Amino acid sequence: MQRQPQKSKIGRSQPADAARENGFYGQDILSVDQFNRARLEYIFDVAHEMRVLVERFGSADLLQGKILANLFYEPSTRTSSSFMAAMLRLGGQVIPINNVQYSSVSKGESLPDTIRTLESYSDVIVIRHPEVGSAATAAYYAEKPVINAGDGVGEHPTQSLLDLFTVVEELGRVDGLKVAMVGDLKYGRTVHSLTKLLLDFDVELTFVSPEILRMPGEILEKMQRSGRSYVETESIQEVIESVDVLYVTRVQKERFTDLAEYDRVKDFYVVDEELMRRAKEEMIVMHPLPRVGEISYAVDDDPRAAYFRQMRNGMYIRMALLASVLGKA
Ligand code: ASP
Repeated sequence: MQRQPQKSKIGRSQPADAARENGFYGQDILSVDQFNRARLEYIFDVAHEMRVLVERFGSADLLQGKILANLFYEPSTRTSSSFMAAMLRLGGQVIPINNVQYSSVSKGESLPDTIRTLESYSDVIVIRHPEVGSAATAAYYAEKPVINAGDGVGEHPTQSLLDLFTVVEELGRVDGLKVAMVGDLKYGRTVHSLTKLLLDFDVELTFVSPEILRMPGEILEKMQRSGRSYVETESIQEVIESVDVLYVTRVQKERFTDLAEYDRVKDFYVVDEELMRRAKEEMIVMHPLPRVGEISYAVDDDPRAAYFRQMRNGMYIRMALLASVLGKA
């Protein structure tokens, strides 16, 4: 019997079979370039099921007997602990390496050797590393799936998946939305990945940043090549009344060589109650977190403040990814 096309949650009809086709088994997750609408739809459907599973039962034994090596060369709270929680809630185990200074890395061990070691004890490796391309290097040497949890100023694909999942869960659609990204668009890897992911959608993008923290040229060129238009401005006041999604970011202090320059831009934007009074009733404020002053605490009680819900969604997305690459979704 012919299957009927289903209405996709992210805005386009597609055959149910395409949405169900996994295609993730044994794969690395290195960049958002690996995701088209059908793959996003699939992961979002699984993430939604994971949410229901956690809310009803807390955990499952889907990944019982599987081991995740969680290798973090850079600080992390949410990404690291949500990957761990995701694995544990699915019945798997974790080798956590959060302090590489206490591992053989401090003895000068190379990334390939560390990866070869960890993959001999585990089934999947999550890596965060300060260098762009490091996750791809790890994937080159590993036979087991490698998931990029942030490679310097490069990409943070799992963050972008949870960001887009949040938009879908909160606003019910992506196409037709006005999205403004605010803050450190130069060094913020989450906005790099999210912009690339949004290339496939019909959204109006505005990049709001101080001159020295503008979105990198290569990402703007990629947008132009894909025929997508965008607006750049320094003024958050210009966008606040019309945006559906205000995606705020922290100025990435750790990427600055000149700290005086950081001091000049660190408080450029503050989303406070006064600004929120001018925003639409149905819109959301997002932030990948941690925040360091760019959203005032008074905004937290505003129902439009979605950043804590966004953070929770990270665990569901990572449960979906782990189950998919390990062939259990
Ligand atoms: N947690 C995000 C990241 O790892 C955002 C940030 O650190 O500002 O990129």
